[in-house]
Parts: sequence; structure tokens; C-alpha cells
Amino acid sequence: MTHQLIACEECDALHRRIALNAGSAAHCTRCGAELFRSRAFHIDTVLALTVGSLVVFVLANAFPIVTLEMKGVRNGSTLLGAIVTLYREGMPIVSGLVLATTILFPLTELMILLYLLVPLRQGRLPAQLHLFTRVIQTIRPWGMIEVFLLGVLVSLAKLSSTASVLPGVALWAFAALTVLLAAILMFDPRHFRDLAEELAGSHA
Ligand SMILES: [Zn+2]
Repeated sequence: MTHQLIACEECDALHRRIALNAGSAAHCTRCGAELFRSRAFHIDTVLALTVGSLVVFVLANAFPIVTLEMKGVRNGSTLLGAIVTLYREGMPIVSGLVLATTILFPLTELMILLYLLVPLRQGRLPAQLHLFTRVIQTIRPWGMIEVFLLGVLVSLAKLSSTASVLPGVALWAFAALTVLLAAILMFDPRHFRDLAEELAGSHA
């Protein structure tokens, strides 16, 4: 049974897969790299977190993060509005980085998770599972919504002395999104390969 064997991602040593206790991990006997972890999450949990994150993601981008009031003039901005302003003010690199780390990369990861989880839950194998698993592993470190949120909070604290700062719906949504994404981060994308192997095994 080939799917009982697992190759180390670092040194290619072959190991026989064993059952693990919940929350523990198996390591390579030759180089010590982690081979696999016991699945701490049920697929339904990850799917629920993903759908929840997508809903909150839409809220976070549809509403103003903050409204500033100065001398009777109110000015609110969404994240996308702020990115466009950065671009127009001659900071294309900064605006591009904010766009990628707060919108593009997190949204891509959530869409891929949804694309993989829905068929897997129904016992079907999604096309290009290994490719998309690798994409998630590659873009994951580039999602930096928590860094963005921290930056916004620091800026707001500084601005509050010169203008009245009204937190918008999106600010709370970003806070909720940070928590949801942190929970999703606990799901190791390598489990997709295990799920795929289990499915292939049950159909054989
Ligand atoms: Zn190894």
C-alpha cells in the first residue's frame, strides 16, 4: 500500500506512516524535519472558519475603517480608498504592498481553501489539489492583516489628539478577521495531501 509511506520533504527519507495522538507530530528519523501532524481540525471546522472569514472580509472592505472629523468636516475611508490615495500621492510601491498583503493574498488563500474544502467534504477530489496546496503554503507568510491592524490602531491613537476619530464597521471587521485567520493558520495545508490520499485509498 503506497499511501502508507511518506517521504520527508527535506531529505526524501521514506517512513512508514503511523497513527498519532491528537496534537502530536511525527518527525524524520534522519534529519528531524516534521513529517506530519495529527489532524487537530475537522474539515467542517476549517470550512466554517473559511466561510466566516470571507463574510467578514467583505464587511471589512465594504465599510469605512475610520471616520475623521475635523472642524465639522467628516472624512471616511475604506481600505481600498486608502490604497488608491497612497497610489495617487506618489507611493505606488507602498500601495501595492498594502493591496497584496491585506487584500490579494488573504483573499486568494480563502478562495483556494473554499475551492478545496467543499469537494473534499463531499468526498470528491478537487482538480490540481497539490498545486493549490503549494500556492497556499507559498502565499501564507505574505498575508499581514494583523500588521495592518496594528498600524491603523497606532495611527488612530496619534490622530486622536488633532481630530475626533470614529471607528468604523470595518475596523471591528478587521479585528474579527485577524482572529479568524489566526484560527485558520492552525490548519496545516499538508493535511490536504493526507485527505487526498485517504480519498484515493477509499476509491481503490
Ligand atoms: Zn528528513
